[in-house]
Amino acid sequence: MKSFKDLFEQYQWDTIKGRLEQVTLPDVERSLQKKNRTIEDFLNFLSPIAAQKLEAMAKMTQQLTRKRFGKTIQLYAPLYLSNECQNICTYCGFSLGNSIRRKTLTDTELMTEASVLKSMEVNHVLLVSGEANKTVGIDYFLNAVQLLKPHFANISIEVQPLSEEEYRRLHHAGVNAVLVYQETYHQEVYKEYHPKGKKSNFGFRLETPDRIGKAGIHKIGLGVLLGLEDWRVDSFFNALHIDYLQKQYWKSRFSVSFPRLRPAEGIIEPNFIMEDKDLLQLICAYRIWNEDLEISISTRENEKFRDHIISLGATAMSAASKTNPGGYAVDKESLEQFETSDERSMDEIKSIIRKAGYDPVMKDWDAIYSGI
Ligand code: SF4
Repeated sequence: MKSFKDLFEQYQWDTIKGRLEQVTLPDVERSLQKKNRTIEDFLNFLSPIAAQKLEAMAKMTQQLTRKRFGKTIQLYAPLYLSNECQNICTYCGFSLGNSIRRKTLTDTELMTEASVLKSMEVNHVLLVSGEANKTVGIDYFLNAVQLLKPHFANISIEVQPLSEEEYRRLHHAGVNAVLVYQETYHQEVYKEYHPKGKKSNFGFRLETPDRIGKAGIHKIGLGVLLGLEDWRVDSFFNALHIDYLQKQYWKSRFSVSFPRLRPAEGIIEPNFIMEDKDLLQLICAYRIWNEDLEISISTRENEKFRDHIISLGATAMSAASKTNPGGYAVDKESLEQFETSDERSMDEIKSIIRKAGYDPVMKDWDAIYSGI
């Protein structure tokens, strides 16, 4: 198999949708009792009928997460580099068609933003940008990583899909993790959400995690934009993708995020509403299926949900996030990619984690462990 695309093409969206509806409670119970669970078990946990087993699933999720990750939550913060973008995505404030003031951080501005994060004791930083290859391409990222590396223990990146060689250069520069979301695995409607720009190439995006894996990046993060299409079917394909990647690139670690569509300048309404209890079921499904998977919860989620999820499967959380370039200090009024929901400070989040009996972790990784 050359890439995930070969496996993906063996599956049909409507068939998976039909299978999810046919799952029975005994199917779910059988999957819960198994020792080694497969993607078929994940499908059972994801099914509408499995919602009836949510309490048992939540209990198991808590036990499995504590066994594998201890009572810890790793904290990180995003650092938006630029809101320039050459794509039209109908759900995003940075979309090319939106007439907003565009901003890309200079070196000095980048370091000003970094110093605010350091004053909040942030040690894991996630660099985010729109997709504008000419102005914010590989050279810009390499320069940013070089500037930030002495100040942060862990640098992750969530930018446009790059080539394998470019990922290799980022790896050598010290990038620890790369996040790339397919947004939706529904190939036909993907084009409607992404009518213009490089992102409209579904296949190129689909093969991106393969390129990241081949480049030897330590951690690969996947996810779908929940709200675009049927979250159950989309999440099945996302898990299938992770399953494939774990077998193929077994030296890497994997994480999953759960971005739910949030309000932003000039964007569409969610097509599918995902309730909090649905998101909890999805998180439980991932954890029970895959004990090693890191589960990341962003500030898109509301305070109540985030407080509860600390002891129910989360392993990492962003906090005090600004989703606009310069949002921490340099240009607080630049346009944000989406509205955050949980606006509490880093200290408040730490204290909530401690109150739940967990340890907030600001640094659990050092480049010395990987020799980079
Ligand atoms: S989702 Fe990404 S690629 Fe699409 S418009 Fe927003 S920043 Fe650009």
